[in-house]
Amino acid sequence: MLELRPNCECCDRDLPADSREALICSFECTFCRACNDQLLHGSCPNCGGELVRRPIRPAAKLERCPAATDRIFKPCS
Ligand SMILES: [Zn+2]
Ligand SMILES: [Zn+2]
Repeated sequence: MLELRPNCECCDRDLPADSREALICSFECTFCRACNDQLLHGSCPNCGGELVRRPIRPAAKLERCPAATDRIFKPCS
């Protein structure tokens, strides 16, 4: 199950589970679209992997399978 991390690692902007602005790599490093557009350009700065849009988990499933709450914040210069 995807963690659905709550924020962008790069700029700490909130990325709720229903956000269409969230991108993830295969390790679930999580970034926002603005950071991707401005500096990441589709590749994860941590692992070099591909960044793709994070799928939305249906709200009805979030009750039993909630999104992660631990924030990871490592500003990418
Ligand atoms: Zn960001
Ligand atoms: Zn990564």
